[in-house]
Amino acid sequence: MTAATAARTLFTALTGREPEGIWSAPGRVNLIGEHTDYNEGFVLPFAIPHRTYAAVAFNGTDAIRVASTFAEEPVEVELSALNTLFPAKAQGSDGQEPAEGPAVPEWSAYVLGVAWALRALQPGDANPGPSAGSGTQVSSGTQSRGVDIAIASDVPVGAGLSSSAAIEGATATALNELWGLGLDAVTLARAGRRAENEAVGAPTGIMDQMASMLGRADAATFLDCRTLETRSIPTGFTAAGLEVLVIDTQVKHAHSTGGYRERRDACERGAALLGIRSLRDAGVADLPRAAELMDEVTLRRVRHVITENQRVLDTVAVLGEQGPRAIGDLLVASHASMRDDFEISVPELDAAVDAALAHGAIGARMTGGGFGGAAIALVEHDAVGWVSDAVRAAFADAGFGAPHIFTVAPSEGPRRDA
Ligand code: ADP
Ligand code: MG
Repeated sequence: MTAATAARTLFTALTGREPEGIWSAPGRVNLIGEHTDYNEGFVLPFAIPHRTYAAVAFNGTDAIRVASTFAEEPVEVELSALNTLFPAKAQGSDGQEPAEGPAVPEWSAYVLGVAWALRALQPGDANPGPSAGSGTQVSSGTQSRGVDIAIASDVPVGAGLSSSAAIEGATATALNELWGLGLDAVTLARAGRRAENEAVGAPTGIMDQMASMLGRADAATFLDCRTLETRSIPTGFTAAGLEVLVIDTQVKHAHSTGGYRERRDACERGAALLGIRSLRDAGVADLPRAAELMDEVTLRRVRHVITENQRVLDTVAVLGEQGPRAIGDLLVASHASMRDDFEISVPELDAAVDAALAHGAIGARMTGGGFGGAAIALVEHDAVGWVSDAVRAAFADAGFGAPHIFTVAPSEGPRRDA
């Protein structure tokens, strides 16, 4: 059963009715530019063919009801209770402080958080303060905006392929249409990020949501995470006869805990020591000065971010000037920097990259936040089977669990499927 059909089937089981529509948004891989997003730097992700589907219809109440094949027990919350469930942060919405764990099952906070963030954008419908005339009336003509939402996905969850942005994007796209909000893709991406930062409490940047919302076939999305300026960069993979192999190590990561937070703190510390707002404001020429100012670990964290920003710019230039076969060394250098300086790789990711490169991959690197998840390898179309077999053999030799290996091509962003 396809994920779209699974969403419809779950919706019908939940409600006894047909959905009004089915909307979907893709996961993503990051071609290059890791842990640069929250440093206001550059990233170059692309949307993948794997998508999350939301089957949705109005339910005639003022409640939002969510179910997922991931956790079939539905969760129901009154729309008017969303502001209590996810209190807006006093310091604003840039996600610096993770929220307390949500009072609803964590998976449902991705969906409910998007509904909350979208409502907060609407005049007359948001954060009814003491001066607001009525906090319960919605601003459009629809009497009740309650919806039932059934989610199903073929994006591997927790693999670094951003199932989180996919579920947020599918929800945001569906509600944007059903609630008649008329918001653009970037605004929907920001609502997704706000949900993830404040409703779920994962201190992630804006890259994943932008990659999902702005996906285009055969192109990656260059994103300046400071200005949110984007540029669609043709990858030319298909024309060059190249495939991107995803090697999901099946090692699960968790953003809301541990290492991710520590790396963010190190970057903030490094920027403060350099006297700049964020590491985006430093370049390779600042590294000698950085070495004078900070301890060895902080320096290595800073060096990763500074050199990675440069590698993103170089990749965009090389894709344009020389084509995709010429970006291999940049991918390899990116992996080395994450392994040695940022220290976010794991033995399984290193084994995947090493085995792919040893068997003819043009380039390979871990992708996503690290501490598990997936690696990508750029390989000739005809070498996909050979490289995949080599990676599987390397995993078996090392005693690792079998990886999940598949190809992805840069794909389109959100859409209405039915
Ligand atoms: P990634 O985005 O790399 O897959 P995250 O930890 O950011 O990993 O997001 C994974 C989380 O998103 C899951 O643990 C779950 O809470 C939520 N999620 C993703 N897809 C679904 C889905 N189809 N149904 C329910 N929850 C989902
Ligand atoms: Mg995620």
